[in-house]
Amino acid sequence: MTAPLIDPFARAITYLRVSVTDRCDFRCVYCMSENMTFLPKKELLTLEELDRMCSTFVRMGVEKLRITGGEPLVRRDIMTFFRSMTRHLDSGALKELTLTTNGSQLSRFADQLYDAGVRRVNISLDTLDEQKFADVTRWGRLPQVLKGIDAAQKAGLRVKINAVALKGFNEEELPTITNWCAERDMDLTWIEVMPMGDIGNEDRLDQYWSLKDVRATYADHYTVTDLAERTGGPARYVRLEETGQKIGFITPLSHNFCESCNRVRLTCTGELYMCLGQEDMADLRGPLREDPDSEEPLEAAIRKAIHLKPKGHDFDYSRQRADGQMSRHMSHTGG
Ligand code: SAM
Ligand code: SF4
Repeated sequence: MTAPLIDPFARAITYLRVSVTDRCDFRCVYCMSENMTFLPKKELLTLEELDRMCSTFVRMGVEKLRITGGEPLVRRDIMTFFRSMTRHLDSGALKELTLTTNGSQLSRFADQLYDAGVRRVNISLDTLDEQKFADVTRWGRLPQVLKGIDAAQKAGLRVKINAVALKGFNEEELPTITNWCAERDMDLTWIEVMPMGDIGNEDRLDQYWSLKDVRATYADHYTVTDLAERTGGPARYVRLEETGQKIGFITPLSHNFCESCNRVRLTCTGELYMCLGQEDMADLRGPLREDPDSEEPLEAAIRKAIHLKPKGHDFDYSRQRADGQMSRHMSHTGG
């Protein structure tokens, strides 16, 4: 182990999210346009390079690794990478290896993920209506994802559903989705739509359903108790007294969560974003490739980058504009 990563605001960086591909088999309307241009494959870090990157971060104190994308499970041979990370779980350096997925490939991979040491997965699902699911994901099909969720639970993976709160789209489904999660013993978190990347003709403000309003909708249907508990991440939680469920809210816009931020994000091309809501990034691919036999240049570049981690993001819809809009897509930085 080397000295831990501490940023200028005394936050320890222990959580790395890694986007292993910008590609995806879905085209969710809030995430990318239908004719999205992807990076040339040669720009991507190889699986061996991803291993070196992640292993270096683990050596520098990262305890939690979340694999994301794009759709992480469409990257060819991605199980080789998961299996190579198992050694860090075995050594105890890594406490958790997990992923965020749209669920489309889980019937194929759930067992292998469990064998590699994954115990929890976040699965994104915004509606339980087949037609609406096809509309919002454009290329996704609900039965395939439901099969994936079945496979994940059968394999022993704990499932959390992430739903993006979309005005006029899944508002009235809130009790249905909530009860479905309760019946299947799955956690549920709502995410506010964020201004990430050009999405064609869609309008961000039209999509934006504030989580303050989502909470108010819960209060119409359930007895809601705010929980003080934080898990080091951006989510805040409430408990529904009728079902005993804990519901998470990720509110980058209506509430700022930066003060407890412990994470950084690596893109599939080796750029390190110190904050999801800022354009600042550091190239780690150059230092990684500088010396195939030494991680020293990489470690130095990581330390330098962490010293530049900003205090917080600048997303703001309060002026009825999508202020703080990021030019890159969520699929690039990894959600
Ligand atoms: N493809 C995987 C999936 O959908 O779970 C992983 C990558 S996806 C970019 C990660 C998460 O980001 C998903 O839960 C998705 O709903 C969310 N997301 C994508 N674009 C978003 C946006 N503009 N605002 C808020 N959440 C977004
Ligand atoms: Fe793909 Fe996930 Fe983006 Fe949907 S949210 S298009 S599944 S990367």
